[in-house]
Amino acid sequence: MIDLRSNQTPEPFPSETKISERVLLIDDSQAISRLLRARCQDLAGAEAEIAGSLAETRALLAERPERFFVAVVDLNLPDASEGEAVDLVQAYGIPAIVLTANYDEATRERMLDKEVVDYLLKNSLHEIDQVAMLVRRINRNRQVRVLVVDDSRTFRAYLVKLLALHRFQVIEAADGRAALEIVKANPGIELVITDYHMPEMNGLTLVSALRQLYPRSELAIIGLSERGSAALSARLLKNGANDFIHKPFLPEEFYCRVIQNIEQIELIRTIRDVSVRDYLTGLYNRRYLFETGEVLYASAKRRKLNLAAVILDIDHFKRINDTYGHLAGDRVIREIARVLSCGVRQSDLLGRYGGEEFCILLTGLEVDDLKIVLERLRSTVEATRIVHEGNEISATISLGATLDLADSLQAMIERADACLYQAKQGGRNRFVIDQMNE
Ligand code: GH3
Ligand code: MG
Ligand code: MG
Repeated sequence: MIDLRSNQTPEPFPSETKISERVLLIDDSQAISRLLRARCQDLAGAEAEIAGSLAETRALLAERPERFFVAVVDLNLPDASEGEAVDLVQAYGIPAIVLTANYDEATRERMLDKEVVDYLLKNSLHEIDQVAMLVRRINRNRQVRVLVVDDSRTFRAYLVKLLALHRFQVIEAADGRAALEIVKANPGIELVITDYHMPEMNGLTLVSALRQLYPRSELAIIGLSERGSAALSARLLKNGANDFIHKPFLPEEFYCRVIQNIEQIELIRTIRDVSVRDYLTGLYNRRYLFETGEVLYASAKRRKLNLAAVILDIDHFKRINDTYGHLAGDRVIREIARVLSCGVRQSDLLGRYGGEEFCILLTGLEVDDLKIVLERLRSTVEATRIVHEGNEISATISLGATLDLADSLQAMIERADACLYQAKQGGRNRFVIDQMNE
């Protein structure tokens, strides 16, 4: 089956992901902070900055506080023993994960009142990893779209608040019918949390209708039901809900259920992706590119539609490897892959063709549009600065393209490749379209 819907990896939600990419670690123990920073890098792929006191935290937040998407806060600091650092980061809109040396019911109550992401004990290496995994979760949540369906405005607001605290992207609907429309219009939604009693369309009907659109493995649904209505929970599950939560619930229980369901969907996606995606970049691999490309090609031939084949290659990439090392080279390949996926449409097919070569198949473009796309990709890559271990690396790409359907997809790609060769000969950092020469 061909699914062009999820061509881009990761799905671009630019404003959030690009601006805030760092973790703020606030702890007076240097040892713990350093360990945590390393684990955040390894497990969550996020860089961290360290503050050892409330004063240092203030200093770090004085400039560009929006670079932090989450803070890990020690409850007891020499200059802030009452959790003032939690209040401070929250005042900047940064969600806080709290670390405490000892845990009791009073602390729990206090933390719930403060609306922190979670509170964890910091006793062992195991717990440090738990914190890093939570950071990773919060980081990922920023890409996860959740739809909340409830006719009670107050309760909906409560759910939205809980989800926003964990950085989910949240959309709301007041009844089943509105929810169904939203899901149809937003194919990226991964989780629907729905109440049962609602006007227009109730939760059961909504669950059944959603299941006509997406299987459990692609869209998770959590039903909300009153405690004591066991029959209703069973019916929700039978109608296709993945899970249910009894109202009222504790925030901790809510988060556990939400995370469990999201992670299940992610796991299934990962398993599915392994066979079609390239490991380094997450783009489609060569095999998938050709399989799906053949379908696009056949359709373009039959229906006389425009299809463009583009081959592009990073310029002097060997120098980047030689100068900065192979790991830096990998990083450059990944970053350029990300830039490319942001620069093409959902319907375009982008894949990693070989080492530092990529292939894009674009449908429905005239030559003038194609020129605009190629120039945009070229200039965006040129403008991108990739920071790796303190080095600022820049790179350029050369592109070759054809709109000539020729006799086969393979022949098209060969033509595009010949144009790429011309672009390299012509001085690199440019594109050549074969029709331009005819
Ligand atoms: P040109 O501008 O002509 O394309 O020059 P170039 O140096 O980019 O091209 P060349 O084909 O000589 O070198 C490509 C290099 O890319 C050689 C290979 O070791 C490196 N490479 C291929 N795949 C990977 C990879 O996955 N990671 C890293 N780091 N390097 C890779
Ligand atoms: Mg190259
Ligand atoms: Mg090459």
